[in-house]
Amino acid sequence: VSGSGGEAPQAYEVTRPGLSPIGTRRAPTKLAEELALTIEREVLDAGWPVGTILGSESELLARHGVSRAILREAVRITEYLGFAEMRRGPGGGLVVTSPGLSAVMTAVTVYATFRDVGVAEVMAARRPLEELAAQQAAKRRTPSDVNELWARLTLELSEDRSDHWALHDQLAAISGNPAIELFVEVLSRLTGQYRVTSRMEPQDGRKRRHEGAVAHRGIVEAVAKGDADLAGRRTRVHLDAVEAALVAGDPERTIVLGKGDGDHEKRSTSVARRILDNIVGQGWQVGRLLGSELELQQRYGTGRSVLREALRLLEYHHVIRTRRGPGGGIIVAAPDEEATMEAMAVYLEARSITAQQLLEVREALELAIVVDAAAKPRSSDVDALLAVLEQEERAPAREIGVMGHLLHRRLAELSGNDALLLFVHVLTRLTEFRQLSPGRGFQLTYEEAAGAVARAHRAIVRAIAAGDVELARRRMQVHLRALPGHLR
Ligand SMILES: [Zn+2]
Ligand SMILES: [Zn+2]
Repeated sequence: VSGSGGEAPQAYEVTRPGLSPIGTRRAPTKLAEELALTIEREVLDAGWPVGTILGSESELLARHGVSRAILREAVRITEYLGFAEMRRGPGGGLVVTSPGLSAVMTAVTVYATFRDVGVAEVMAARRPLEELAAQQAAKRRTPSDVNELWARLTLELSEDRSDHWALHDQLAAISGNPAIELFVEVLSRLTGQYRVTSRMEPQDGRKRRHEGAVAHRGIVEAVAKGDADLAGRRTRVHLDAVEAALVAGDPERTIVLGKGDGDHEKRSTSVARRILDNIVGQGWQVGRLLGSELELQQRYGTGRSVLREALRLLEYHHVIRTRRGPGGGIIVAAPDEEATMEAMAVYLEARSITAQQLLEVREALELAIVVDAAAKPRSSDVDALLAVLEQEERAPAREIGVMGHLLHRRLAELSGNDALLLFVHVLTRLTEFRQLSPGRGFQLTYEEAAGAVARAHRAIVRAIAAGDVELARRRMQVHLRALPGHLR
């Protein structure tokens, strides 16, 4: 299982030297995690054939040369991430499955909690994404989509406690773009954590719900008519109003972790959330001792098996780790952000996101980022961008597939918005993956592609440094729209 062993990475090294596919850059902390990654690569390389059996337990033991305990731990991870599950009985084995949303949502919630992503950041990410979602929904909606939107509106007007963000999620789903759908759902989860109700009079709450429903009706009417521009514009206006109300209400945040399926899972998820709450309440001090397993059982009033399941969930997301020996116990850890990005990228890959869809979302997010950067160019930011350009230009042309994304990621970092940063990382990684897969690749030579990217990047940075918002925006747009010529 060790780095040099597996067959898939070697195949990649032959076709695209110096580059690594999704997942290989993350340093696995355990043999089991490493094996889970190997299995994940196998599934990706095979084109995600849901229902295919990867092998029986004994076949997998022989193929990977690991102990039964390691294999079972790895299978637990693949089942948790939802890309393969072990079926017992004759004809059973490790079966490829379609990954579920729940693990991804938990990973993002942990990331956002750790990074302390606030209302303003969430809303700044929502605007470009949902404007695009509404435009796409207006172009793609079917009569049954429109019926479902009207049904949701009726529910909103009749129900006191309907979920405001459900309609937003529905529009994102109609867009047919898996990245829009995932990101909007993630943002809805994060926005839904903020509540101002505790400080609000009941009549204010009703008034706000009514205003929300009226705005939603305007958006749905535009989508139903197929007027993409109007749908996008109304969405933007609506989100501005929601943000203003949220910020003015000084909202309280309640952490929400993944939805459990069974009762048992639900209890452990709720214990995990309470532990996470406690960690956040103490300012997320990495290295702090939370106590022994027994102490935690008593503190959270739970049995050993439920606590262990909660701890496994938190351990998987690197919220905690276990230290053995004297002075040991459950310790606060730092989340593995690479793993979060990977979980999202893998989820989108499994949903067969196309290059076109990928670039469409990148355009929406990255234009918002570049406009922001050019509107207030700080000299330290410009210096940082110039340093990235040099780094990109110094790299061998063959590495353009990875190095060409440095500027995009640095710009996202400089935006100071950790939600945008996360999304841009996921999308650029998926772009890399398209350049890496066997049988796909550049239509240009490496040198031609590297030259074109370097020129475009310099021009973008010059426009930002000059504070020319319109020019920076246009140059980024032209650059991103030229990328399909580099991708197959
Ligand atoms: Zn709304
Ligand atoms: Zn670029």
